[in-house]
Amino acid sequence: MSGELGSARNPLRVAIVGSGPSGFYAAEALFRSKHFVCVDMLEKLPAPYGLVRNGVAPDHPKLKEAILVYDKIARTPHFNFFGNVTVGRDISVEELRRTHHALIFACGAETDRRLGIRGEDLPGSHTATEFVGWYNGHPNYRDHAFDLSHEVAVIVGQGNVAADVCRILAKPVDQLRHTDIADHALGILAGSKVRQIHLVGRRGPAQAKFTSKELRELGDVMDCDPIVAPEDLVLNPESTAELADKNNTNNARNLEIFRSFAARSNTSKHRRIFFHFLRSPVALVGNQRLEGVVLAQNYLEGDPFHQVARETCEILELQCGLLFRSIGYRGIPIPNVPFDEGRGIFPNRDGRLLNGSGGVSLGFYATGWIKRGPTGIIGTNRADSVATVKALIEDLPIFPIAEKPGVDALRSLLAQRDRRYVSYADWLKIDAAETGRGAPKGKPREKFTRIEEMLAYVSD
Ligand code: NAP
Repeated sequence: MSGELGSARNPLRVAIVGSGPSGFYAAEALFRSKHFVCVDMLEKLPAPYGLVRNGVAPDHPKLKEAILVYDKIARTPHFNFFGNVTVGRDISVEELRRTHHALIFACGAETDRRLGIRGEDLPGSHTATEFVGWYNGHPNYRDHAFDLSHEVAVIVGQGNVAADVCRILAKPVDQLRHTDIADHALGILAGSKVRQIHLVGRRGPAQAKFTSKELRELGDVMDCDPIVAPEDLVLNPESTAELADKNNTNNARNLEIFRSFAARSNTSKHRRIFFHFLRSPVALVGNQRLEGVVLAQNYLEGDPFHQVARETCEILELQCGLLFRSIGYRGIPIPNVPFDEGRGIFPNRDGRLLNGSGGVSLGFYATGWIKRGPTGIIGTNRADSVATVKALIEDLPIFPIAEKPGVDALRSLLAQRDRRYVSYADWLKIDAAETGRGAPKGKPREKFTRIEEMLAYVSD
């Protein structure tokens, strides 16, 4: 006889796929429920923390303090970490369904949206993901090559990821030396010849997606001028109406910041950041590699908050040797999990995954970017995960009550496959080694950038 589901005799066993903020906040919400819950968290990489480790810019250490909260959650009894395990390859969703009562997908948005224009894949054109992963020491991007011998770099997109990429290109390298930036990136950035960085937005200054703090920071980079043409700050009536809305204070603040940039007397400093508005790339050009980008002039069409960019025939060609596409992320599918190709998310209602015919797949949930798309800051994921866990707990009365084997079955399946997983205790050893490697250089850590290095460190 099974005990009540969610009791000490029959714990609720939940597998969480992904170990970024949304995964950890889901674990936290489960442990805070009144039920007896065991959580097994599976992660592709040997290291936990997702974008907090691999996405947050190295010069934003405060944001990485979220890790202290995640570490506390990971030390909760009945929490197990399985790093270096890819769901859909090392273990299937069906197997997890047999070993656990519920699965929460918290696997984020791992790839980039495409521009869909000619020349997009020319050498010299990169995704923001590649660059961010590279300077953050993500093993998948360790061997990417970035040729920073060009004077002009273009970044397409005006969101916070574009701001991060811009800052890392614009900052004096000495200001990055004592961060956790990967050593290989520091070496290349030290030799950078980039002098002009062009941040290109397809809509106007009132629609730029930067948060004000991040935008202001671009004006504070040492030895670097932000350049805005005053005539670009003239708004159409719809944009003026948007900025008058009391819920749109961030964008109103942004406009003030752009105005302050436009009013500066520029002093031809070492580097310059040019802001372009109402411009869309229509082609990347070059013979063997990137030589320039063709930008169409846009106008805005639509009601306030629904304005879209429409291209005109007027074009501008900007010569550049380096371009980063920073136009947002999308999720990637996992075998046998429904996927919304259009939005790049797992289709769901309030976090409950939907099957192909629009019905709910009992026991399957999503949270974070794979649930809602790539929006919001780290903290946004807490409320999102609380909502998903609330849905899961509401569903408990209709779950089959049978006990599930959980962590023991998971361990034996991985052992059968000879899959070396990284436990949380293993991770703590890697973590200590990274901080030890960083200390002599005055860095908070020197990350291992190859999976084999991490595994060798914890091999028995
Ligand atoms: P984002 O904020 O959505 O910005 C994407 C940018 O790309 C927008 O300017 C968008 O313009 C533009 N874009 C999209 N499709 C385009 C196309 N086909 N052609 C030209 N431009 C296009 O995305 P993100 O910068 O990747 O950031 C993702 C999330 O992470 C955001 O919520 C961000 O705030 C967060 N984040 C936060 C921090 C931080 O707190 N410091 C750091 C990094 C990221 P439209 O507005 O016209 O769509």
